[in-house]
Amino acid sequence: MNSQIKVEVSCPSCLKSLMNPTVKIDDLPAIQILAKISGKTGTVFLSQIYGSYEKKFVDVENINDAVVDCSCPKCQKPFPIQKVCSCNAPVATLNLDIGGRINFCTRNGCQHHSVEFENLDDAFILFQKQNPSYYA
Ligand SMILES: [Zn+2]
Ligand SMILES: [Zn+2]
Repeated sequence: MNSQIKVEVSCPSCLKSLMNPTVKIDDLPAIQILAKISGKTGTVFLSQIYGSYEKKFVDVENINDAVVDCSCPKCQKPFPIQKVCSCNAPVATLNLDIGGRINFCTRNGCQHHSVEFENLDDAFILFQKQNPSYYA
């Protein structure tokens, strides 16, 4: 359990943190996203544990397979879309606080996401910081 990767993310446009310490998912501060699902706007909270699909929906319905319009709750800018998932939904990109990006499919329920580090040293620092006993 302690080798889980936690991703703390920020908005690529305004660079503000998207972590919300008052909402907990998997016992950790959640990632807050402004979400539009089938015409309604609300908030989706995601787990910061990479590989966890725990989510909370506030003021929007949890519609399976719906494509979610994801924007920053701070500056309201849509998150950049850099590719299309194999399910044909757009893949949105967020900044990782440590350097690098996380890509996630905007289709609710699709489990495609990936982490891309700008350089491998950042990945090493992240693992080392989060799993100090591995390197003791
Ligand atoms: Zn923003
Ligand atoms: Zn997908």
